[in-house]
Amino acid sequence: MLFPRAVVCTRQLAVAGPRRFASTSPPAGPAKPSNLPYLLLGSGVAGIATYIYLEKNGVGSKKVEEKKQEKSPLDPQNFVDFKLKKIEPYNHNTAKFTFELPENEASLLPVASCVVVKSSDPEALKDAKGRPVIRPYTPISPSDKKGELTFLIKKYDSGKMTVHIHDLKPGDSLSIKGPIPKWPWKMNEFEDVGMIAGGSGITPMYQILNHALTDPSNKTKFKLIFANLTEPDILLREEFDALKKKYPNNFDVIYTLDKPSSDWTGSTGYVSSDLIKKTFSPASAGEKVKIFVCGPPGQLIALAGKKDGMKQGEVGGTLKELGYTEDQVYKF
Ligand SMILES: Cc1cc2nc3c(=O)[nH]c(=O)nc-3n(C[C@H](O)[C@H](O)[C@H](O)COP(=O)(O)OP(=O)(O)OC[C@H]3O[C@@H](n4cnc5c(N)ncnc54)[C@H](O)[C@@H]3O)c2cc1C
Repeated sequence: MLFPRAVVCTRQLAVAGPRRFASTSPPAGPAKPSNLPYLLLGSGVAGIATYIYLEKNGVGSKKVEEKKQEKSPLDPQNFVDFKLKKIEPYNHNTAKFTFELPENEASLLPVASCVVVKSSDPEALKDAKGRPVIRPYTPISPSDKKGELTFLIKKYDSGKMTVHIHDLKPGDSLSIKGPIPKWPWKMNEFEDVGMIAGGSGITPMYQILNHALTDPSNKTKFKLIFANLTEPDILLREEFDALKKKYPNNFDVIYTLDKPSSDWTGSTGYVSSDLIKKTFSPASAGEKVKIFVCGPPGQLIALAGKKDGMKQGEVGGTLKELGYTEDQVYKF
C-alpha cells in the first residue's frame, strides 16, 4: 500500500539566551551631544541583518524543525464528526463539500480509498429498520492537503444521504469513518491503465489520476473513458482537460454522452466494445495492463459484471468478451 508523502513543517522558537546588563556607569562630566540615537540606529540595523541571516540559515536563536504528521485525523474504526467549511455548487445537481480537518492536519488517506459517512445526529437519518443510513464517498482532495477534505457529491432527489448532505450548511457537521482501502495504487506497477467511469463514479479515477500523474516518477499511461447523460453532467472536466494538457504523453480522456446536444463533436452513446478496443491496451498485454471501472450498477454489470458484495465477483460483460481477466479488472 502506498502511503502519502505528507510532511508538516513547524517552526519553533528556541529558548532565548541569557539577558545581559550594563555593569559600569558612564563617567560624570559636562553634557555632550548624545551618540545614543546613532548607536541605537546602528545596533538596530545590525540586529535586523543578523536576524535575516539567522532566519535564512536556520541557525542561532531560531531553529527550523521538521515534524512528520504520523496519524490521520480520521479513524478507520470509529465515526468522527467533521465540520463543513464550505459548499461550492458545481452544476445543476452536484456540489463540492469541503470539511475542516483539525489542527491543519492532512487526511493521509491512502490512494485509492474512500470513507463512509453518516449523519452526526443519530436520530436524523435512519433506514426502514431504524439503522443509521451509511454511504461511501471518495475524497477528491489530495491526501496531503492540509486542513481540508473535499468531496464532490451528486444529489438524488429521492436519495437519503445526498439530500441530507446537500441540506447541510457551513458550520454543520457530518460523521466520517475511514479510510476504507480500495485498490492499493503502486507507482509504475502497470504500463497502461484503462479507466471507465459513469457519472459520479468518476471520483476514484480522479483520486488515482491526480495522485499518479503529478508524481514526477510516473511512467504509466492512462486512458479514461467517461460516460455521462449530457455535457453539463461531466464532472471535473476542467481538471481532466488540464491534466491532459499538462501530461499529454501519459493521459488521455474520451467523453461520451447518451444525450448530446447538436453541436457535440465527441463520442456518443453507451461505452461500447469498439470504443474500449480502440482506446485501451488489449487483454493480451497481460499484467502490463489494468482496467478500473466505477459507475452506476447497470453500467458496471454491462461492462464488467456484478460485484459480489464487497468482493470483486467474476469479470463479466463487455470486458469479459474482450478477453480481460480477473487479474486485469478492478471494480470500485
Ligand atoms: C466506493 C464508492 C464511492 C462513492 N463515491 C461517491 C462520490 O465521491 N460522490 C458521489 O456523489 N457518490 C459516490 N458514491 C455513491 C454514494 O455512495 C451513494 O450511493 C449516492 O450518493 C446515493 O446515495 P443516497 O443515499 O442519496 O441515495 P439512495 O437513497 O441510496 O438511492 C436513491 C436513488 O438513487 C439511485 N442511486 C443511488 N446511487 C446511485 C448511483 N451511484 N448511480 C445511479 N443511481 C443511483 C438509487 O437506485 C435510488 O433510486 C460512491 C459509491 C461507492 C460504492
